[in-house]
Amino acid sequence: MKKRALIFGICGQDGVYLAKLLRDQGYEVHGTSRDKEMANMAGLRLMGVYDDVTVHSAALLDFRSVLQVIDDVRPDEIYNLAGQSSVGLSFAQPVETFEGIILGTLNILECIRFLKLPARFYNATSGEVFGNTEAPADETTPFRPRSPYGVAKSTAFWTVANYRESYGIFACSGILFNHESPLRPSRFVTQKIVRGAVDIAEKRAEKLTLGNLDVSRDWGWAPDYVDAMARMLKRDEPDDYVVATGKSNTLTGFVDAVFGCLGMNSSTYVETTPDLMRPTDIRVSVGDPAKAKAKLNWSADTTMPKLINKLVDAELARRRAT
Ligand code: NDP
Repeated sequence: MKKRALIFGICGQDGVYLAKLLRDQGYEVHGTSRDKEMANMAGLRLMGVYDDVTVHSAALLDFRSVLQVIDDVRPDEIYNLAGQSSVGLSFAQPVETFEGIILGTLNILECIRFLKLPARFYNATSGEVFGNTEAPADETTPFRPRSPYGVAKSTAFWTVANYRESYGIFACSGILFNHESPLRPSRFVTQKIVRGAVDIAEKRAEKLTLGNLDVSRDWGWAPDYVDAMARMLKRDEPDDYVVATGKSNTLTGFVDAVFGCLGMNSSTYVETTPDLMRPTDIRVSVGDPAKAKAKLNWSADTTMPKLINKLVDAELARRRAT
């Protein structure tokens, strides 16, 4: 019998890469979108998995639809990758962010509990829960989130831990630091920089306007990170793991490297505006993936500067193909 996986948020960046990984591992893969008729399936098509997955309509905040899809699919593994995923947008839409992330996670856990389903559950938490990290954050580092998104992810983390302890559900949280790919939309700064720099190189734009460049982030490659998720659900015991490269790079350095890849000097083209600054920001974000290395035998394969070369090459290839 094939193992069956259900991915909430299968059309998002991580959902697409995870669907591909699990399909390649021999799983029967199901996934959800809030409205499958309106869903953006471009990522699934691009990665060649569209024909191999079954997409269902389910809204995390609609308990009945979550119950229905879990009961219909009866999955061995459930991955929750759905929800508002932008830190910046969470300042403008805090209620949407809280409801989707906190109640959405709770709805899935309640369904597993109600159906007495022996499914294993992965929940997507974020390095944003730590706030500023003076030293690389590990699974014992206290949470000090600095955005509505980070607060919501912190609450979801403790909800998962509570259901694991209270009801014996095999539930894991992955505390993932930033991970990028060509499937990221331009609202995320890394893709905004890559696409903006290529626009300038191709003479379609003259300037790139950004917000706070004085931050450092721990950036990895999304396909590596979904591999860590799948490994968590294959362990004997459920647990929580930090997934990161262990190295932080400045956003200024990221910008310089992208422009450098394209033979340009960023200082000629990049401007900043306070309009794009967040009410509170994390200055330095970096994770310590030692536990993931020890228990999951996982480490990030693609790190900087290789990551930047891959993002720029993918954008150039995408434009050549269209
Ligand atoms: P995406 O934004 O690419 O995908 C999330 C999916 O959730 C979307 O495709 C969308 O699917 C659905 N969605 C979007 N907004 C809402 C909403 N308001 N309410 C309910 N569903 C919504 O995210 P990623 O794939 O990048 O990330 C997956 C998970 O991992 C998310 O929970 C994210 O917060 C978390 N995470 C991501 C990190 C990263 O660097 N990428 C870092 C740490 C954590 P549809 O429109 O089809 O319904």
